[in-house]
Amino acid sequence: MGLVDHESRPGRAPAPISELGKDPRLDARHAVLFEPLQVGPKLLPNRFYQVPHASGFGTDRPRAQAAFRAVKAEGGWGGVCLDYAPISRDTDETPEVGANLWDDQDARALAISVEAIHAHGSLAGIELHHGGAESTNGDSRNHRLAPSQVASAQTWAGLAKEMTVDDIERVRADWVRAARRARDVGFDIVYVYGAHGYLLTQFLSPHTNRRTDGYGGSLANRARLFLETIEAVAEAVGRDCAIAVRTAVHGRDGLPGIDIDDMLGFIGLADPMVDLWDVNVGSWPEDSGSSRYFPEGHQRPWASRVREVSSKPVVGVGRYTSPDLMAEVVRSGAVDLIGAARPAIADPFLPRKIAEGRLADVRECTGSNVCILREEAFDRVGCLQNPSAGEEYRRGWHPERHPPTVTPDTRVLVVGAGPAGLECALVLGRRGYRAVHLVEAEDEVGGKLRWMRRLPTLGDWGRVLDWRQVQLDQLPEVEVITGRRLSAAEVLEYGADVVVLATGSRWRDDGVQPGRPDPLVGADLPDVLTPEQVAGGLRPRAGRVVVYDCEGYLVGSGVAELLADEGSEVHLVTPFPVVSPVSDHTLEGEHLRAHLHRRGVRTHRGITLDGFDTGSVWGEDDLGDAWRLPAGGLVLVTQQTSDDQLFHELSADVEALRDAGVVALHRVGDAVAPRMTSEAVFDAHRLARELDSTDPSVPLPFLRERVSLHEEDRARRPGRPGA
Ligand code: ADP
Repeated sequence: MGLVDHESRPGRAPAPISELGKDPRLDARHAVLFEPLQVGPKLLPNRFYQVPHASGFGTDRPRAQAAFRAVKAEGGWGGVCLDYAPISRDTDETPEVGANLWDDQDARALAISVEAIHAHGSLAGIELHHGGAESTNGDSRNHRLAPSQVASAQTWAGLAKEMTVDDIERVRADWVRAARRARDVGFDIVYVYGAHGYLLTQFLSPHTNRRTDGYGGSLANRARLFLETIEAVAEAVGRDCAIAVRTAVHGRDGLPGIDIDDMLGFIGLADPMVDLWDVNVGSWPEDSGSSRYFPEGHQRPWASRVREVSSKPVVGVGRYTSPDLMAEVVRSGAVDLIGAARPAIADPFLPRKIAEGRLADVRECTGSNVCILREEAFDRVGCLQNPSAGEEYRRGWHPERHPPTVTPDTRVLVVGAGPAGLECALVLGRRGYRAVHLVEAEDEVGGKLRWMRRLPTLGDWGRVLDWRQVQLDQLPEVEVITGRRLSAAEVLEYGADVVVLATGSRWRDDGVQPGRPDPLVGADLPDVLTPEQVAGGLRPRAGRVVVYDCEGYLVGSGVAELLADEGSEVHLVTPFPVVSPVSDHTLEGEHLRAHLHRRGVRTHRGITLDGFDTGSVWGEDDLGDAWRLPAGGLVLVTQQTSDDQLFHELSADVEALRDAGVVALHRVGDAVAPRMTSEAVFDAHRLARELDSTDPSVPLPFLRERVSLHEEDRARRPGRPGA
């Protein structure tokens, strides 16, 4: 089966990356983004730079890594980096997966990515890494290394070893060896990674570096290992590769004890040896700040400070998706390159779309940090906006190309235009189904996101809907009908060959919660509301409002903030030991809790509610003691339930379906089981990609990368006495 590139004009081959700036459709205001830039010995073809970020693929899944990165090069990112790359077995972040460069076999695994990136004319970068005290070394069980025996801020597994001078020399030598390996397999940009509180920053900080030898004390001494490492790496590979240094210029947790002047002092010292400064802020939750708490470009003031002491190119991130802002940032001289991790995951083709003047087609990052949650919790990158992210190799999915259907005349009815229904109809239209109808009960498409996007801080989540609506408008094959709630009889009469039910879910109004199958006492009283009812304008009549949050993510906090902003006294009660534990996976937890606190929302953790009467809520705390709080109203964010009545009615009468000519009935998204929006979108995308397979209700198998059991891999353990 071939692939249809529905985006490009028939017969027109995609322009090579070096020609993107010559596209007549490029808006002159954005031309600056397509100017090449010399970085040491290498020429970047444009100003779009995918900064190093973890994917979960590392060296373990080299083909998935290569396909994930290659699609960004194809989409026009002039520089494409891989994951963080531990330089030796002295540093691993197990269970996280890195792009290890411990030996030549690792390098060979990463070479596949280099080739794939080069095939599109982009430069390939590798972020050589040593985590120091922040390494878990959960795999190697080697000593964790640190400048001094100081407890790590993040890692609980005991203290790290204070490095001896031999350790220091070994780390420097490992860095050089890893850099040579990277050079030998063709990497263009080699990093000395010091940001985010890792080993070289631990040396810089007087909080973690308490040494009294030549590597501690004054700034020059604390900077010594960082500078020596840059120098050694530059000497080893500097004529073949550009030397990039990633460092932080500001941050609370990432840079304890180092102020901006110290940092600029260090940057000034290192500048002659560095070809590219990759600048960010120290703490990861701030650096990769979610859209709920950080606006686009929030790191800009910090990144631009590097100019005071450096004449070298600077790359800065900022979840940039607006080409006007990107161009302005580059023109202003704040940075030379637009760095991106999340926007490049959401839309690998962002640069190409800007070059082609297709701004409405840019699939803008929502800043939800679902990519980070997927990566942190499941070791697999994913995306709320781009369901193909991470599926490039194993499922063969491409973000812009969709295999043409073998049954274009199949008439498909999709019922429900939430995120799942919108995605399903869109992919079906793109695959060339000639008659797709998307029917929505409400006057507006969007499903749950229709109201969730209006909760405080969640506005950018609306991009999930906006992008899909704009794309559907361009597809005459798909008819979107709103304001029509279909009954089972109407579905049967519709004249569709295939019916996909994307009817979604709603919050339960009976207070059933995880682990407690019975309704909450008093859930039927008038002042007890669901999130949908609050979003629709209903409010408890008077007094303090309790928001009972058993989801532990965004709806409870969003509703609580909405009510607090209106002037209610709001108490958020949750059975979890922290408020919104899921938000810790998206790096939002600490900001969310501080934010609610500033809004005056009081929180109660470890409380399971049993009931409500007109004066109070009651239940028990995590030690089993009775707990009660006076309250005038209660919002139940306890559990969702699928809207699957239509499915059950239709599937119960197989004969009626057959008589109506319906050959297949499917369900997607929350109508199957309520879950994260990213997973509902993925589910719908998967079904639409596979609708013409033998049994679309069962996902097709995907490729797996497995450790080879080939004889040559069973090398004898090196260096073993007597071996
Ligand atoms: P998902 O996340 O799976 O897309 P949502 O709950 O966000 O689910 O959206 C489901 C959408 O389906 C809602 O907009 C709802 O109005 C719509 N819907 C539910 N039942 C019907 C029906 N019988 N006819 C048309 N639309 C429906």
